[in-house]
Amino acid sequence: MDKLIALPVSGESFLLRRDDKHVLVDGGYNSRELARALRTHVASLTCLDVVVCTHADRDHSGGLVSLLEHADFSVKELWLPGAWIDVLPELILEPAAVMDGLLNELDHQQGDFTAEDIADLDGEGIERIFEARAAEEKKRARRFEERRVDRNVGEGETDIDGPPVSDFPQSLMGDAPLDLESAREFERARRAIRYRAARKKADVRVAHYWLGLVKTAQIIREIAAKAVLRGVKVRWFDFGEFALTRIASGGEKGFLEPLNSVELRAVPRRATLSYLAKLSAVNEECLAFFAPPDVTRLGVVFCGDSPLGDGTGYGTSFLDKRIAPDFPVVVTAPHHGSQNNAVAYDHLTSWTDIALWVRTGGSAKQPGKWFMDLSSGERACTHCPRSGLTKQKATVGLGGPFWTHRWPWHGPLLRVSAHECECK
Ligand SMILES: [Zn+2]
Ligand SMILES: [Zn+2]
Repeated sequence: MDKLIALPVSGESFLLRRDDKHVLVDGGYNSRELARALRTHVASLTCLDVVVCTHADRDHSGGLVSLLEHADFSVKELWLPGAWIDVLPELILEPAAVMDGLLNELDHQQGDFTAEDIADLDGEGIERIFEARAAEEKKRARRFEERRVDRNVGEGETDIDGPPVSDFPQSLMGDAPLDLESAREFERARRAIRYRAARKKADVRVAHYWLGLVKTAQIIREIAAKAVLRGVKVRWFDFGEFALTRIASGGEKGFLEPLNSVELRAVPRRATLSYLAKLSAVNEECLAFFAPPDVTRLGVVFCGDSPLGDGTGYGTSFLDKRIAPDFPVVVTAPHHGSQNNAVAYDHLTSWTDIALWVRTGGSAKQPGKWFMDLSSGERACTHCPRSGLTKQKATVGLGGPFWTHRWPWHGPLLRVSAHECECK
C-alpha cells in the first residue's frame, strides 16, 4: 500500500512508499537520528531505492551526510542538486583553495556594507541579503549562458554540455585528499572566520553566515565522496537548466518526476561564480519533486523550501506549463509552513486539488497564517512547534479507491495518523 511518512526527526525528512519501492526525500539534521527513525518506523526497510536531497540547508541535508554509514539498509540512487557540480570538482580536489577563496570573499565583503547598512538586521536579515545576492549573481550568469546558447546552437543541440555525467563524481575521486585532510581545511577556515569576528575584522552576523557556507561545503563534499566510496549511483537535477527552458525533465516518469529541474546528462560548462553564490543554498533553487496520482492512489508533491515560483515575489509559478493531474495530491508544506512561502500555496491550489498539507521541521516562527488558515482536516503535523508537542511520525495512506476525481472528493477515505494539528 502506498504511503507517505513524515519522519519524527529534527528538520525535514519524508519517506514515500510507492510500487513497493522506498524513496527518502531529505534527511533532517542528523544521520544517527535519521537511521534510528527509519529502523523504528519502517521496520521492513532493506533498501532505499532513491534518496533525494532537495538543497544544502542543514535541516534537509545534514542527516544524509553519514546515512550510508549508519544505515543497515542499502541505497540504490542519490538524486542531488545540479548546482553542486559547480563547486564539487574543486571541493574534492582542492578543498584548501575553496576555503582560501571563501575567506578572501569574506574580507572583501566588508567593503560592500557600511555599518549603518546592516545595523538593524538580525541573523536572518543578513541571510536574506546574501541569499538574494547569490540568487542575483546566478541569474546574471544564466542570462549570459542563454545568449551563448541562442547564438551558437542549432535545433536540438547545445554547446554547454561537458563530458557525460554518468561517471561524475566518481572520475574526480582518484587523487582526492583523504577525508581527514579536508576536515582539517574546513576547521582551519572556521578558526580563521572566528578570529576575524573576535578581532572585529568581520561583522559577527556576517561571520556566522560564512561559517554556514563552510558547513555547506563540507556537507556537499561528504555526501558526494561517500556516494563514490559506497558505489551509490548519483543523478543530478539542475534548477539552472530548468530556469532557462522552464520545462522540467528526467527522473522516473509516473513514479517520481522533477517539477523545477532538468536531469543532467552531461556536466554543464558554466560561468564562474563566487564561492558565496556556489555555496549559498538559495530557497528559490530548492528542488521540488512530484509522485503523480492515478485512479488507485493519491499523488505527492515534495516542496522542500521552494516557493515554487520565481520573479517578483516568486509570483511566476513553476507549475504554469504543467498539465494538472486529474486526481488529488498530498503536499509537503512548503518551507515548513512558513509565511515566507505563502505564494507556493497559491501556485499549488491554482494548479490542482490538494487533499492534505503535511508539515514538519521548522521553528516556532513557522508555521505562518496560510497554514493555520487551513481547516483541521486539511493539515497534519509531526509536531506543532508553538505547542511544544513531542515529535511523532505522521503517516498518510495514499491508496484508493476513489469514487470521484474532482471536488467534492470523498475525504474520509484519506487515512492519516498524526498529531491533531495544534498550530495556531
Ligand atoms: Zn528547511
Ligand atoms: Zn501543527
